[in-house]
Amino acid sequence: ETMSRVAVVTGANKGIGFHIAAGLASSGLFSDVVLGCRDEARGRQAVETIASLPGTPRSCRVSCRQLAIGSRESHDAFIAGMTERYGKVDVLVNNAGIAFKGSDPTPFEGQCKPTLAVNFWGTVDFTEEMLPLLRKGSDARIVNVASMAGHLGQLRSRELQRKFSSPDLTKDELFSLVEEFQRDVLSGRHTGAGWGNSNYGMSKLALIAMTKIWAREEEGDISVNCCCPGYCATDMSSHRGNRHPSEGARNALIPAMMESAPSGEYFADFGIAEI
Ligand code: NDP
Repeated sequence: ETMSRVAVVTGANKGIGFHIAAGLASSGLFSDVVLGCRDEARGRQAVETIASLPGTPRSCRVSCRQLAIGSRESHDAFIAGMTERYGKVDVLVNNAGIAFKGSDPTPFEGQCKPTLAVNFWGTVDFTEEMLPLLRKGSDARIVNVASMAGHLGQLRSRELQRKFSSPDLTKDELFSLVEEFQRDVLSGRHTGAGWGNSNYGMSKLALIAMTKIWAREEEGDISVNCCCPGYCATDMSSHRGNRHPSEGARNALIPAMMESAPSGEYFADFGIAEI
């Protein structure tokens, strides 16, 4: 086959993920762009919209498959389908994420588990399951859509800051830290214990740390980076963001498509940044 390159975007039916999928489709670099969507009807609608955009070449097949991040059965079915249909994946953009609104009456402790379940644990499990398909890809890439909310400075404890930023941090150590955070939140001790005071922020901090671990482990096989799209006008931000989601999407598109991508980096404002 002359050019078969397959890209997957999670949470792609709207917001930033939709624009990431549209950007990959219009690049001409992919034969297939697959939208992972938890609701198939919303997914099909997005596929139609992207396929009919003037920038989408006919050579690019845009499709959607059911994918609910955090559901083992859904991950398994998605990956079985991808394995059968393509046998590889070249680009994975982990964009699906949730954030409770400031106005949500759910108490802080109640928001912890569901936020971490999608933004961290679900994303980690899904990605781990996707690694074999990505290792069969050529110049394979993973981009994790994190956030500036994941900055290290939210941790009140210097010791925790050191642990999360250690270049030797292992997967098991990171998982234990996140579990400890969740336990401390449930018992109302998280501030005293030196954690950050945002479940969302902690989920993204942990995703950024995980990005660096994957980058190390997959060195030479898969380039793994993360990004902050910037504050974007989407449903998540109640459309208060000052950046159009198509602009925000570029922060994921750059590491997904640039020539000779680095690995283990954080992209923001359209280039490699510090966090
Ligand atoms: P939206 O809420 O507009 O869109 C989120 C997308 O993710 C939707 O397609 C949603 O599907 C999907 N999704 C949510 N949970 C799941 C799940 N469990 N499984 C599969 N899909 C899921 O958010 P944004 O577009 O603003 O955010 C996209 C990413 O960017 C997120 O990771 C977010 O944290 C991050 N980000 C956003 C910023 C902003 O200012 N907007 C700033 C920094 C980071 P459905 O339609 O079915 O709900």
